[in-house]
This record gives sequence, structure tokens and C-alpha cells, in this order.
Amino acid sequence: MKLNVLQNGRSEHLCVLAFCLIVIIGALSLSPGDNSDLHFALPFFRTEILFPQLCVVNRVLGIPCPGCGLTRSFASTVRMDLKGAVSFNPVGPILFLICIFQIPYRIIAYSGLLHTRPLLKKSENIFQAVTWWVLGGLVVTWLARFL
Ligand SMILES: [Zn+2]
Repeated sequence: MKLNVLQNGRSEHLCVLAFCLIVIIGALSLSPGDNSDLHFALPFFRTEILFPQLCVVNRVLGIPCPGCGLTRSFASTVRMDLKGAVSFNPVGPILFLICIFQIPYRIIAYSGLLHTRPLLKKSENIFQAVTWWVLGGLVVTWLARFL
């Protein structure tokens, strides 16, 4: 049974689904502060703790990586602050939208319906193309930071 799940690529759908849920829950839990920092709200203690900077590239080299600002951009997108989201990372709102669309898509893919419905099978190719374009957009906007 376990081998069958791995052979059909269903575990990939579960991993992406879990990752996207973590991203969305994280964006809902974190709120950008005034100094471009992030705060994690503790639900039962009515207090916030400062979220540490996780980017290794920025810590080691002192320059932002293509993904820098995505967490703050996602947290701003959830709060409908698109201006703030774009200022943290211009690709962030699009990537966050892709994360949201991944949830029903991965559930449908996990159920096996993608291979029985031609329209859903075409959506798989569209999703992959959009994802590659957005990842390319991350690199392009990252390069534009240095110009
Ligand atoms: Zn970074």
C-alpha cells in the first residue's frame, strides 16, 4: 500500500499540500511590524514575539536572496495590504495566490481525478508553466534590486 502511494506520485501531492497549508497558516500567524520585522502572535497569551530573520544568504553574505521578503509579503497579502506586499517582494502576492490554488488542485490530484478528466490534466501543465514563470520572476526581481 505504501509503495503504491509513492509510485503514483501521490506523496508529492501530499507534501506540496502540507507545505502550502503551512505557508498560509504561517502568513495568518505572522504580522509585519513598522520596522519591516515580523511578529508572531501567540493566540492565548495576547502577546507577540519577534520572528527571527531566517535567510542564511542575507546573514552570511549580507545581500538579499531571490526569496527575501516573501514571508513579509505573504503576511501583508493575507491582510490585503498589497502595496506593502509588493514592496517586500513583488512576486509574493502571485506566489501566495498560487499557494492558495494549490490546495484544491493537490486534493484533486491526490484523489486521482487528474488522470481521468482531460481538462484537469491540461490544468496540470498550466500550473507547472505558471510556477516556472513565477520562479523566473523571483530571479528577475532579485536581479533588479541590484540595478
Ligand atoms: Zn533571503
